[in-house]
This record gives sequence, structure tokens and C-alpha cells, in this order.
Amino acid sequence: MSKLYTLPIEIVEVSPRDGLQNEKAQVSTADKIALIERAIGAGARRIEVTSFVNPRAVPQMADADDVCAGLPMRDDVTYIGLVMNQRGADRALTTGRIDQLGAVCVSTDTFAMANQGQTSDGSVEAAKAIIETANAAGKSAQATIAASFGCPFEGEVAEDRVVEMARALVDAGPVEIALADTIGVGNPAHVASLVARVKDVIGDLPVRVHFHNTRGTGLANVWAAIGAGASTIDASIGGLGGCPFAPGAAGNVATEDVVYMLERAGIATGLNLDTLIQSNAWLSGVMDKELPAMVARSGGFPVPEKREKEVA
Ligand code: ZN
Repeated sequence: MSKLYTLPIEIVEVSPRDGLQNEKAQVSTADKIALIERAIGAGARRIEVTSFVNPRAVPQMADADDVCAGLPMRDDVTYIGLVMNQRGADRALTTGRIDQLGAVCVSTDTFAMANQGQTSDGSVEAAKAIIETANAAGKSAQATIAASFGCPFEGEVAEDRVVEMARALVDAGPVEIALADTIGVGNPAHVASLVARVKDVIGDLPVRVHFHNTRGTGLANVWAAIGAGASTIDASIGGLGGCPFAPGAAGNVATEDVVYMLERAGIATGLNLDTLIQSNAWLSGVMDKELPAMVARSGGFPVPEKREKEVA
């Protein structure tokens, strides 16, 4: 095992935002807060709690202010609010509970237009302005490049374009650059290549990755990203997730599946698998359906004493 794999990996829990935003059934604010409490209970210390977007476009996030008002008071947890523009940034900061703004720019013009009503270059400028706003307010901001591995409208996305965007974002002072496979088309070779190339141009900034398991490549992509030097992984309890503007997008990689894979491989995540599996069962009840995650169905690695009891 190479030295790289002994590093701890940080997992950002995104179920309260990306996990829920595409769900048709409106989840109550109380259940969203309960989900956040469960994520904290499982060990999550950075959580994407909501987004500050037009409620007509994303009705599931209409209660962003109420979710923020109900967030547990924790000095050791970083709460992220996703914002698409200055108005969203102002709303997020006004709550007084958001520690970090999540800014998103999009790799292609067609997707940027559908998602945010601007060009790809325009989305980079908007993200930079959001990052600067956060920093000026004494908060931090992260930047995500959506559709880094493929676009639902334009197909192939050149690595050069994503690298160029990452380089442009750095000047604004984000805490990290994230590469998002928004529609779940990535493969491990592409991921390894792009993560390494982006790392090369962003200096000491960490690379975060965001994968959807639409085509079953999510966990392989996580592994490839870590091998190439990514240090933070977005994941969603139960594997919930999708994008209202990305046709066919399925769930995020499931937190419990990522934690199982990494912890068994000797990589610390700081998260507790048993607690995550319990949260999966709870969330499955809230959503009234079985969730895509795999490990919650099978359980973790067999423990001999437990097995004896089951047989008896
Ligand atoms: Zn996503």
C-alpha cells in the first residue's frame, strides 16, 4: 500500500442538500435537521446543509432559512450553504449560521445557461464574486466545477477547460477546488488524470471530488481520485441525490459505501459505519423507499461473535 493511502480522508456530507434537492416528496424542515443531527452523530464535521436558490426552481430548498435556524450549535462543525449568485450569498450570510459558502461554476455554456442562466465564463466570474463576498464577511468559501467529466447537453468536456477554470478560481481565495461529476459519467482513468492535472495548477489547495453513481462508477471514481491526491469526498447518506437540471442524474455516492470501502482499506474517515447504517434505515423511513446505498442492505464486514448469535 502506498503512503498516500494512509492519509485520512475528509467526507463532506451532502445529503441535506444534494441528496434531497431532486426528491419530489417535500421533506419537513424537522426531518432535514434530524438528518443533519444524525450526520454529526456519525462523525461528519463538514455538512452541506441547504442551498439558497430560487424556491420556484428548487422547491425542496425553500426552507433554507428555517433549516439554518434549527442547526445544532456546534463549534466543531462547518455548515456549508450552496449559493448560485450574489443574492444567494447575501441570504446565506444573513442567516448567521452558514460557515462556508459553496460556489458553483459550470464547465459548458449550455449547461451553465440551463443551471444558472449564464455562460461558463460568466459562472466562473459569479463564483469568484461569491468567494470574495464570503472572505470579506469573515467566512470561507469552496468552489465546485460542475460537469467536470461530461455535460448532459454538450457531451465531452475538455480537461484543459476544467484546468483553466480551476486556475481562474484560485485567485479569489477558495478553501478548495471541487471537481463534480454532476451527471455520473466519469470513469476512474479520467478522474485520476483530471484530479492530478488540477492539483498541479492550484498550489497547496486541496481537491475535493463529487461523484454521482448514475452509471455505477462512483466508488471506483472515489478510489481513483484519492490515488491521484484528492483529499475530500462528497457523499450522501443512503446514496440519495440528483440534479433538477441534469437529466437522468442519479444519487451521490453513498456515505456508508464510501466509508466501508475506505475504512476497510485502512483509510480513516472519522465516520462511524454502524451509525451511518442506522441513519440509512431512518432516512429510508422518512423517504418511504429503499435507498440506493449497498452496505446498509448487507451490513458491514462480518464480526464472528455476531455471526454465532445469528446462527444460534
Ligand atoms: Zn451533485
